[in-house]
Amino acid sequence: MAKRSLLFLGFAFFLLQLSLADEGMYPISEIYKLNLKAKGLKIDPKAIYNPNRAGLIDAVVQLSGCTGSFVSSEGLIITNHHCAFGAVQAASTKENDYVTFGFHAPTQKDEIQARGISARILESYRDVSKEVLCVINDKMELAERTKAMDRKIREIVAETEKKYPGRRAEVSEMFTGKVYVLFLSTVLRDVRLVYVPPRSIGEFGGENDNWVWPRHTGDFSFLRAYVAPDGSPAEFSANNVPYHPKKFLKVNPAGVEEGDFAFVLGYPGRTFRHRTSHYLAYEENYRMPYIADLFDWQIAAMEELGKNDRAIALKHDARIKGLANTMKNYRGKLLGMKRLHIVENKQAEEKLLQQFIDANPQWKALYGSVLDDIGKVYQEMTDHAAAEMVLDNLRSNTTVLSYAFTLYESALELQKSDLERLPVYTERNLNNTKANLKQGLRNYYEPTEKAFLKHILLQALALPENQRIEEIDRQFKGRSEEEIDRTIDQAFAQTKLTDESILTASFGKPVAELAQLKDPFIRAAGMLYPTYQKLRETRQQREGALSKLSALLIDVKQQYQKTSFIPDANSTLRFTFGHIKGYTPVDATYFKPITTLTGVVEKTTGKEPYATPQKVLDLYKAKDFGRYKSSKLKDVPVAILYDMDTTGGNSGSPVLNAYGELVGVNFDRAYEATINDYAWSESYSRSIAVDIRYVLWVTEKVGGADHILKELGVRK
Ligand code: ASP
Repeated sequence: MAKRSLLFLGFAFFLLQLSLADEGMYPISEIYKLNLKAKGLKIDPKAIYNPNRAGLIDAVVQLSGCTGSFVSSEGLIITNHHCAFGAVQAASTKENDYVTFGFHAPTQKDEIQARGISARILESYRDVSKEVLCVINDKMELAERTKAMDRKIREIVAETEKKYPGRRAEVSEMFTGKVYVLFLSTVLRDVRLVYVPPRSIGEFGGENDNWVWPRHTGDFSFLRAYVAPDGSPAEFSANNVPYHPKKFLKVNPAGVEEGDFAFVLGYPGRTFRHRTSHYLAYEENYRMPYIADLFDWQIAAMEELGKNDRAIALKHDARIKGLANTMKNYRGKLLGMKRLHIVENKQAEEKLLQQFIDANPQWKALYGSVLDDIGKVYQEMTDHAAAEMVLDNLRSNTTVLSYAFTLYESALELQKSDLERLPVYTERNLNNTKANLKQGLRNYYEPTEKAFLKHILLQALALPENQRIEEIDRQFKGRSEEEIDRTIDQAFAQTKLTDESILTASFGKPVAELAQLKDPFIRAAGMLYPTYQKLRETRQQREGALSKLSALLIDVKQQYQKTSFIPDANSTLRFTFGHIKGYTPVDATYFKPITTLTGVVEKTTGKEPYATPQKVLDLYKAKDFGRYKSSKLKDVPVAILYDMDTTGGNSGSPVLNAYGELVGVNFDRAYEATINDYAWSESYSRSIAVDIRYVLWVTEKVGGADHILKELGVRK
């Protein structure tokens, strides 16, 4: 594969005139254009990223939806407590409750598997826009256009992976319908837990404090990546040895001060700043309120079912945490959208853009209807929103029903050639898909599943007349809740899909064989499947239309704004910089940017989520701050706030000082900054990290994990 220097040529064009504001999740190839020395960086930007040599980016890993970074030559990784949470939960039992009490492996031998977590290391990348876009033309039917591009992308991925065995290839869309980049990575699948603080530290403040500043959460964990003895990536095995990264971060136990320059490297998930007002209105009026309400209901149902039994509550823990996180994020966004008039502002911008287009006959001919046409796509989507949201959640919310769909779909998909299959059923993903199937059973609790299924069926039955789902009507319309309960009870009594061996053995079996199981959920999946196929086709058409229109929109915006465009976040590696900085969320307030251990003690009530371990309280009383006391604050700093541009996926990202040393681990944003995904602002966009001094203080004083401090090089 081409060297790293060849990357991003396709959209470098858009970035020629970068603004000076701190907004921006920059692709790393763009950092040389940012004049970072003048902004406060004290090292050569080439130390961050150098196409020909290892740089700081080589210490940063994508960690199953989060980010992490190597902090020792022995593959030690630091990330967030909430990023490791699922794995900690999977390793926990009622007797060994690592969620509640934390986990500490005194030696490498004691480190245990972090199930479901893998570490992805970026090796190289290349612009493949020309290859992807040459398979489409203007005459193509819209769904065909989407399919042709998908097929081409799969071909590129397959060829690349063949050429580089053991590596993982991924093509990311940087600008819809315009710029595509191929990323090649190494994936380390044997990741283990090393040190996890007790939940009362790692999740201090719980959901109350989530998305909130001031914050006092010790949201960090240490993991370690392992490889086969020959250094190649391997599944978990006792013979594996610690991975030696090309680069690891130096930890600076002195931390940062207010006003300091800092930067973050990480894998932000998704932003939507290039989308039009039509999309934002859809999000504000339909999707987000629906999901927030649904998750609210599901969380309450799980809390109720688990309230008297810790074993049941443990099964629900990770799911509740995930749903609550999204739910509160959406509520924050909805509030921000209203307060900041996000849709109206976008509409006003679009009006000006339309005037600009209309003023020039040539542009009018080329771009005159682009905005209206995008609007029509979203209008059609809005017209079917209620039914589509029910269909999406019907398929995914109930574990057994989602299994049934996967089995039914695998039967159909495995008949096709690899390139024609849906991505999860291609050879490269089959193992993962099968492993994911089993994962869900670990936390399976039937009463929850039944309640979720009933809830969504009742929603389906309440759909407006013009959006009915025929198959569901046929089965359930006009029936009482008791009758629906009875049908659900019977289905759960009859299903065999909760038997792991039957489940795995059925994967990929032809439909006729699946039918022999006589499983009610498989029957339901088979019945509903054509509806889902139709929905997929509709979505491919929309995607085809939007890809065409978005490319035109970017073209004309470029001519109109004559400013920089940074691609929306899309889970690819990004750089963002800024300063440690407080803010004023409401009139007459000012929030300082560093919280302290005193704040932890002040918030402590003894009851969850503010039940600080006695050890922390004793150490605080004894003023045993060790070397982690800030001389300015006369206290141990706990969390820091800064004006960088981050989003979900940046969880666990390293926060680095002007010298490129680790001073914090990003884990959240302030409530007002949940709106970042649509619009960034210097006044309200603030992100939150756990201060490295708190990480070290907890690890040493509370955890007694001196060996980690030694490994980090902060203690002899
Ligand atoms: N806590 C966040 C998350 O859930 C991080 C963020 O979105 O800023 O990913």
